[in-house]
Amino acid sequence: SNALDLAGIEKGYNHGRPNEINVLRGVELSVKPGEVVALVAPSGAGKSTLLHIAGLLDTPDAGQVRIGGEDVTGLGDRRRTAIRRNDVGFIYQFHHLLPEFSALENIVLPQLANGAGQRAAETRARDLLGRVGIADRADHRPAALSGGEQQRVAFCRALANQPRLLLADEPTGNLDPETSDRVFAALMDLVRDTGLAALIATHNLELAARMDRTVRLDTGKVVT
Ligand code: ADP
Ligand code: ADP
Repeated sequence: SNALDLAGIEKGYNHGRPNEINVLRGVELSVKPGEVVALVAPSGAGKSTLLHIAGLLDTPDAGQVRIGGEDVTGLGDRRRTAIRRNDVGFIYQFHHLLPEFSALENIVLPQLANGAGQRAAETRARDLLGRVGIADRADHRPAALSGGEQQRVAFCRALANQPRLLLADEPTGNLDPETSDRVFAALMDLVRDTGLAALIATHNLELAARMDRTVRLDTGKVVT
C-alpha cells in the first residue's frame, strides 16, 4: 500500500463569513514507500494546510486520508494521535528542539514517549546523529549548536520512531544557501538510507529537482 493517499481533500476557513477562503479544492496525491516528493507552491497556497492534514494535525472538510493504506479520516483523537506518533515524522522550518535538553535527549525523548527503553533509544539516537555527521554534538544543547546542526538534530528527532512517512515544511528554509545545500544532502541521505516516504514542501527548485518528483499546488489542487 502507499505511504500516503489524499483523495478529494477540501479545506477552507471562515465558512459562511465574508472572509471565507477555500484553500484546498479537491487535492489528489499519493506517495509510495521510498518515494521522495517535492511540494512546490507560492506562499499562502496551502502547503502547511495540506501537510497538517496529511500528518493528522488537522482534519479536512471533505475527502479521505490514508496512511499506510489505512483510512484514518474518521478515526477518533486517541487513534489519530497514536498514528501520528508511530507513522509520521515532522520537520519544520524552525527546529522546535527542547532548549533544556541535549541533542541526544531531544532524539531519545520521543522514543521513550512511544514505549522504547532508554538504552535502545540512546543507541538509535547516536546512530542517527552519526548518519547526519554530528555524533560529536550529542551532549550539546540546541543553543550551543549552529543552525545547520540544530536542523540535523531535528531531522534525527523526526525519524526517531521510525515513521513510514516524513512530512517537511521548508526544512532548510531558514539556513543560508550553502548550509541549506549541505543540510539538505544530509536529509536526503538519511531518507534514502531508511527507505521511508517523504513529502517535502520547498520554494527551492534546485532542491526540488533532487527529489524523485515534483508536484505543485495550484488554486487548491495538486498538479504535476
Ligand atoms: P502556505 O503554507 O502555502 O503558505 P497555508 O496553508 O499556511 O499556506 O495557508 C493557506 C491560506 O489559508 C492562507 O491564505 C492563510 O492565510 C489561510 N489560513 C491558514 N490557516 C488558517 C486559519 N487557521 N484560519 C484562517 N485562515 C487560515
Ligand atoms: P507556516 O506556513 O510557516 O507554517 P503559519 O502556518 O503560521 O506559517 O501561517 C501561514 C499563513 O497562514 C500565514 O499567512 C498566516 O497569517 C496564516 N494563518 C495561520 N494561522 C491563522 C489563523 N488562525 N487565522 C488566520 N490566518 C492564519
